[in-house]
Amino acid sequence: MADAPAPAQTQPKLKTRKLRQRACDEKSPKGKLCFGHLKRWYDYPREVERMVGRGAELYRCERCRTLYRPDTSELPRSYTLRY
Ligand SMILES: [Zn+2]
Repeated sequence: MADAPAPAQTQPKLKTRKLRQRACDEKSPKGKLCFGHLKRWYDYPREVERMVGRGAELYRCERCRTLYRPDTSELPRSYTLRY
């Protein structure tokens, strides 16, 4: 029963990045928006890789370290279908 590793570490917060979202919209405990810059994050640690998968597109807020995944409902390819 004890072979599953318990999530002892605090997991980083993972949010979905909205279309064209450039700044973090995470609220501080005081209720203010963070507005940190979302930067593409490539060399994430293994525990993050377990959450998002290997080679996943991932962004991280430079200020509060909130993680963002792109909104998969908006595929970048979709514009090719437009006339
Ligand atoms: Zn932030």
